[in-house]
Amino acid sequence: MDRGVERATTETVIPRYHRALDFDALWREFPPAPDYFNGTYRLSRDELRMMQEERFLRQMARAWQVPFYRRHWSAAGMEPGDVRGLDDLARIPPFSVHDLRVSVTDDPPWADYIGIDPAADAPLPLILQTSGGTTGLPRPMIFAPRDREVMNIITGRRLYMQGVRPFDLVQVALSMGLTNGGVLAREGIWKYTGAIPVMTGSGAQTPTRRQIELLKAWKAKFLIGFPAYLRHMGLVARDELKIDPRELAVKGLIVHLGTDDRPSLEALWGADAYDTYGCNECGTMAAECSHKRGMHVFEDAFVLEVNDPETLQPKREGERGVVFITTLFKYAAPMIRYNMNDITSLASGECPCGSVHRRITGICGRSDNMVKLRGVNVFPEAIGAIIGEDQRSNGEYVCVLERAEGGAETLTVLFETLDRSEPPQAIETELAERLKEALGVRLNVRAVERGGLDHLTGLSQTSKIKRLIDRREPTSS
Ligand SMILES: [Zn+2]
Repeated sequence: MDRGVERATTETVIPRYHRALDFDALWREFPPAPDYFNGTYRLSRDELRMMQEERFLRQMARAWQVPFYRRHWSAAGMEPGDVRGLDDLARIPPFSVHDLRVSVTDDPPWADYIGIDPAADAPLPLILQTSGGTTGLPRPMIFAPRDREVMNIITGRRLYMQGVRPFDLVQVALSMGLTNGGVLAREGIWKYTGAIPVMTGSGAQTPTRRQIELLKAWKAKFLIGFPAYLRHMGLVARDELKIDPRELAVKGLIVHLGTDDRPSLEALWGADAYDTYGCNECGTMAAECSHKRGMHVFEDAFVLEVNDPETLQPKREGERGVVFITTLFKYAAPMIRYNMNDITSLASGECPCGSVHRRITGICGRSDNMVKLRGVNVFPEAIGAIIGEDQRSNGEYVCVLERAEGGAETLTVLFETLDRSEPPQAIETELAERLKEALGVRLNVRAVERGGLDHLTGLSQTSKIKRLIDRREPTSS
């Protein structure tokens, strides 16, 4: 017998997921649905603040163990103990995805923001997912059991808020691979809602027609996907398969709505669409309740700031700024003042659901997707919102940024038409006028046939849909 193998089997420590966590303690700290809605969700602002203060200090202590923060904060002259509470939050230098990319250098995927050393630390059951990765290799993120389980609990709460109940089928049309969205939805649905995930994946994994056939045969009550893809699915059902999507009796569309046109999507499916906000590093951070009055931040797990992108000063309710996120639960890769580059504002007034958890309005663009055109800031998402309102288009669009001879930058908006009865020039001229009115700058507008942008946006292939193509030559300097 090979003694080496025998020794290895008795001496090797294999970590077990269910022993890596004290589940009862974790559930008291971060109650799953429905308990959450009778407890934490009903706390007053003072009670919430106390809870956040305590969790924030623990998160700071953990972050000081992570090389990324030691490096980043020491360079800014910070020392452990400098930050005594949330009132000091603004003194902590923020970071962005750019800093994370720099951190994945020497020994990928072990970026130094993760804070786990495989050569020295006790083994833990870990999971790796990535960002979408539109350029270069995707950015890896490794999750420890506590991180993952809290993210699953929050996915469960979000779905419960939006009406998902035990035995419901939830069809997940998000890519099942390296990116977190689809995988995380599966874990959250399965573990914390009693509903049953149906993982059809993106259009590349299950073709759109098959997605609709499955939806019809198995009668899923909820659809999770990108709004552009769910719109595409509804139109394929209606126009190609001659199935009225409203007869499929879907109850809810669970999406990152952004600037997508909610009324037309809801009318197409005869279902409510609920907005949600999340990211690969943190999972779901905010979600609409059934009243659709902005997305409630899960404030027992996150501190969300809306700041001016230049001065970093906090914005008042109703004013647009960029999202900074601070996690209150993460062991691997805690996120402290992560500048998400997403533009939103804090919602004002009270939500009829009675919760005082802060709400944000929809994400209206990414500050790094912003194009400066003749002195005007233009977001592709805002262009998409205007195209989406036009019934002669299916809402599909892409913006192409080019530098013309002489150096002037031009933005051309390509959009797909549904209506063949009207000459495309007429729609082009009308849309160009409407865009000029709304954005204050003239854009080139060109109509293409339905499906004609697929190869540019990747709509039927991936869940990361491209809306801006930068064809400017890199400036030589
Ligand atoms: Zn509410």
